[in-house]
Amino acid sequence: MPTRMLQTLTHGIMKMTREEIESTGDLHFSNTIETPLRADAFDTSDDDKIKNIQHHFAEIMKELGLDVTDDSLSGTPYRVAKMYVKELFYGLNPKNRPKTSIFENKYQYKKILVEQNITINSSCEHHFLPIVGTAHVGYIPKGRVIGLSKINRLVDYYAHRPQVQERLCLQILKDLQQTLETEDVIVVIQAKHLCVSSRGIKDKSSFTTTIEYRGKFMEPATRKEFFSIVNKPFDVS
Ligand SMILES: [Zn+2]
Repeated sequence: MPTRMLQTLTHGIMKMTREEIESTGDLHFSNTIETPLRADAFDTSDDDKIKNIQHHFAEIMKELGLDVTDDSLSGTPYRVAKMYVKELFYGLNPKNRPKTSIFENKYQYKKILVEQNITINSSCEHHFLPIVGTAHVGYIPKGRVIGLSKINRLVDYYAHRPQVQERLCLQILKDLQQTLETEDVIVVIQAKHLCVSSRGIKDKSSFTTTIEYRGKFMEPATRKEFFSIVNKPFDVS
């Protein structure tokens, strides 16, 4: 291994061996529900983050041998930096969490409510490659209900972080439990990971399913009801 690469790999923040780094990427497992963030994560403004990432991404491109003065490439570091901060990873910053309007459950709806086929656009935190798929969310209302599109917005917010699918599932579940003041929530995500389909094993057809549930969804009959709704083909006609 070139000395410089070895220095980078062993430099302070990166204490894992190359083998450990590679196998962690395959595990797609996280041991905490919280996204690991630095204490000073948001001390820097978005504009300064974009400026800094732009600089570092240009260095990566140069290291790869690219001529960043070329007309076609000169704007790439800025585009990537802006895309990271404002689009792909906007969900890292708690100030971007969508405002969830909560309503009193006046009509006393007490059965399962399912919001399904919610688009998942996320990024794998081990390779920074896309995770694309769908989420299905169900809950049984108690005293509070949520605007339907707010569920989609919450899913979108948590997806727009470097993620592992298991954690994404749990973060959505936990937020909805707190927001709706009910234990009775289920979250299912089915997604394709480009780090599996476009590199490594290069399996184009496989996808990953994660299911997390609490409260009444621990009962098999309630889960069965949820899945019978989710699995039914949608037909408006
Ligand atoms: Zn990955």
